[in-house]
Amino acid sequence: MTKIKCIGILTSGGDSPGMNAAIRAVTRAAIYNEIDVKGIYKGYKGLITKEIVPFKTNNVSNIIQQGGTILKTARCMEFMSVEGRKMAYDNMMEAGIDALVVIGGDGSLTGARIFAQEFNIPIVGIPGTIDNDLYGTDTTIGYDTALNTIMEAVDKIRDTATSHERLFFIEVMGRNAGFLTLNGAIAVGAEDAIIPEISIEVDQLEQLIENGFRKTKNSSIVLVAESEVTGGAMGMAERVKKEYPQYDVRVTILGHIQRGGSPTASDRILASRMGAAAIDALLEDQRNVMVGIQNDQIVYVPFSKAIRNDKPINRALLGTLRMLSI
Ligand code: ADP
Repeated sequence: MTKIKCIGILTSGGDSPGMNAAIRAVTRAAIYNEIDVKGIYKGYKGLITKEIVPFKTNNVSNIIQQGGTILKTARCMEFMSVEGRKMAYDNMMEAGIDALVVIGGDGSLTGARIFAQEFNIPIVGIPGTIDNDLYGTDTTIGYDTALNTIMEAVDKIRDTATSHERLFFIEVMGRNAGFLTLNGAIAVGAEDAIIPEISIEVDQLEQLIENGFRKTKNSSIVLVAESEVTGGAMGMAERVKKEYPQYDVRVTILGHIQRGGSPTASDRILASRMGAAAIDALLEDQRNVMVGIQNDQIVYVPFSKAIRNDKPINRALLGTLRMLSI
């Protein structure tokens, strides 16, 4: 085992609140352990275009409370090709970087896995995504903040939802995962949640209209996960207009407000623990793993597992939501 002298850190894919707290933790934990740090700007793109700068402890001062990522993030098509990754590897060697810490979602970790295997370099991933869709970790950095943002936004919409028999479909992000939608719905006391994990099995709209939309209420709020299967909130609204014209339907798409904002305490703590754990992993000669958290304990999950795209959602929560919305 050769001692790691210098690590590179990058954020990639969609940004999420708490990425900065993770950058800070990785940087400071590395320096504490006498490892040099280089910040790579704009994700994998910066490795190819050599946007690489030395990071000291003060480069990460005063960022723990900031949303977004000071390293910027990007989607990088060149990194999808062997030639692009070779260029990234050559630049990494030229900059004296022995190992990488990649903060991002499943796309970024898929890229990390391929890169690590191709060039035999140690890479540790940190799950930074609001979607919470990475397998092997109970939560991801940004998820709790996004849930809170959804809750605040929907609370405001409910304040205006006073007309009789008005049905609000509110679209929530999640990239084919229903975690934000289902738990957001419980947090706001919504009447129902329409999630992609179940859309392929049953017609949730039919169920909603039959059981869920109560005449005793002035208005109903239904959270809908973005989804190609259901067409999201717009798709639902179109169907209601056609099939149940007696209802007055409104649509709100929460959009990018869900990605921004100062991270919650939970996300800052999670990011700090995961950042420190990423350096522990490299010191222990672990490679090709994502840092995860299970039952409040740090775990290391092989990339191949983390990105498998079938993280189970707790379906019983849908029953709880419906029971409590009577
Ligand atoms: P996220 O990490 O938020 O899921 P993306 O799916 O957009 O975001 O992925 C971010 C970046 O990761 C891509 O722009 C690309 O550079 C890299 N990446 C994703 N998938 C692959 C892949 N199969 N091979 C190589 N690089 C990939």
